[in-house]
Amino acid sequence: MNELLTSLRAFSHRCSAGELANNVFKQYFRELDQGPEFPIDIFKMLRDFNINYIFQDLQDLEGIYSPDIEDSVAVVGINKNRRYERQRFTAAHELCHHLRDYQLPSVSPIDSKNDQIEVYANNFAAELLMPRRYFLQFARHYQDDKGFVSPDSALYLCNIFGTSFESVMWNLHKHRLLNFKLTKEFFSDFKVNEKIKELKLDSLENSFLKNIIDSYTYISRSDNSPSWLRLKNELIYNDGKIEGLNIDKQLAAEICTDIRLFGTKSSYFKAYHDNPAIVETAGQYMAYDKLMKENSHPDRYALKDYNKLLFSFAPHSELAGEYRKGNNAISGAIIQTTNYWEIEKEMFELEQDIKWYCNDIDSISFSNLIETATILHHRLTRIHPFEDGNGRTCRLLYNWVLKIKGLPPVYIEATDKKRYLEALTQADQDNLNPLMTLFMERTLHTLMFLNSECTLETYTLKDYI
Ligand SMILES: [Zn+2]
Repeated sequence: MNELLTSLRAFSHRCSAGELANNVFKQYFRELDQGPEFPIDIFKMLRDFNINYIFQDLQDLEGIYSPDIEDSVAVVGINKNRRYERQRFTAAHELCHHLRDYQLPSVSPIDSKNDQIEVYANNFAAELLMPRRYFLQFARHYQDDKGFVSPDSALYLCNIFGTSFESVMWNLHKHRLLNFKLTKEFFSDFKVNEKIKELKLDSLENSFLKNIIDSYTYISRSDNSPSWLRLKNELIYNDGKIEGLNIDKQLAAEICTDIRLFGTKSSYFKAYHDNPAIVETAGQYMAYDKLMKENSHPDRYALKDYNKLLFSFAPHSELAGEYRKGNNAISGAIIQTTNYWEIEKEMFELEQDIKWYCNDIDSISFSNLIETATILHHRLTRIHPFEDGNGRTCRLLYNWVLKIKGLPPVYIEATDKKRYLEALTQADQDNLNPLMTLFMERTLHTLMFLNSECTLETYTLKDYI
């Protein structure tokens, strides 16, 4: 790709934005030796052109570009608060700066209609994500007998190209495929989200998230950095809260800090026997402390040990870590859990499947890993092997699978409990997508959070690629 980059840079000032985008598109896919697939994976394209990207809170900017000067790597920052379609557009826009304006850092404001460099980069982005030839080819399917495309049909094109309604409409306008003028009023009157539901268009969220996560620049830090400690506190607090522990954030943080500083001498181990929320939070901390040092793959015996650890400071903890000896109906659940006499067998089978999945863990992408972890997590929720602490043990298994590939742990926010439970119910009915989306969002959140301590300069170091 380096040679391609050099030749594209040499060519970039002698052509229009459309011509540059078409050249990038053609030559990039020729170099990969594969045909284009839509929506194109713009984030992989950034990485292939030696650009690291990060999602940040950029406030009134869409993106920033920091060039590859001397021995460093180019970095693109993308506003984390914008919709995925917009983030894809920004990624393509910043790629244009990398090809054309690579001598200087640049910032791309949200509204940039009067700056020629910005207008060029916007035109480039639109053309790269919706190449003229393919756009016309797909649009043809939606033309009426006079050759026009309706706004409803434009939504199908949004789904094909992974671009916003606005940019598809402007593209239709550019190619004279609209029979009316585009106005501000039109965009404010047209209810995009309602129409998408009405037309039952599949959400592309999962495929956008997969692209973003698979090429994301994650800088692994020592697990004693301030952001890691904060992540642990948040995880312990939220994970317990989801299970109904009566604890607040402040107390959870105090327990975590105390155990970190004083180890087994911490007063939280002994003095609060009558408070299940405190002793279970302490147990949860110990379980994650162990998990962060874990080197082996998950097996059924180790899962028992983790479940035991959760309750190791609680009174009457004899049953912790043992499989349940009865069937307890879970209120509200459509599908009931495994019969207690079959738990042993199903845990054995789960372990076999974990082994099978972990066999090629080195070669799979981050998003495939998340998919695997989601499947295993859901399987364990269905078996529901223990008397208590099943939810926490299931989420720990999820994090364990991530740990094998060096990804940090994630937690579901307590305020998202309803969404999480609904996603689990959907998974019970063979639709794993909502649970996948939730876990991918949470993984991206953790990656962004742990990276938030790094300065932009950190990303320009070649070592991190
Ligand atoms: Zn810009």
